[in-house]
Amino acid sequence: MARTRKPVVEVRRSQRRRRTVSAYRDGERVVVLIPDRFSRAEETEWVERMLARLAAREERVRSTDAELLARARRLTTRYLPDHVHQVMPASVRWVTNQNGRWGSCTPDDGTIRISHRIQEMPEWVIDYVLLHELAHLVVPSHNARFWDLVARYPKAERARGYLEGISAATGLVLQDD
Ligand SMILES: [Zn+2]
Repeated sequence: MARTRKPVVEVRRSQRRRRTVSAYRDGERVVVLIPDRFSRAEETEWVERMLARLAAREERVRSTDAELLARARRLTTRYLPDHVHQVMPASVRWVTNQNGRWGSCTPDDGTIRISHRIQEMPEWVIDYVLLHELAHLVVPSHNARFWDLVARYPKAERARGYLEGISAATGLVLQDD
């Protein structure tokens, strides 16, 4: 018998949040992040809306690892053209087992794994995370040369601020080491 499993929802209120609502899946749970000032009615409305949005998104994501790889390759060509021979990734996949890390990479075989937790974030933040991991294929550590590569992406600083804000609001540390 087919049965739709209702996810366990955990609502987290944040005083830092003004208007934005986001949600992500964490194993069997769905975490919904809302501004602290929301009323109970608004909370109920937004939880329903975000669950629907997340379900639709997850449906699309199942076939999107190939798109993620294509996207990473476009970013490589655009921002790291002088390193294309080193960093053109062999595989880029969405994964759910990153334990709070946004992504990781294995320079030896050119594979990159990106946390599903960032799927709900703006496209320019996802691009930043991809480029960050791509740059690690050139420079493994977070040294000056590494940050010079990352800075080629125009919204790098803004994306780092966005990710730090999420970390502060959720208590979830989102970085890659
Ligand atoms: Zn890094």
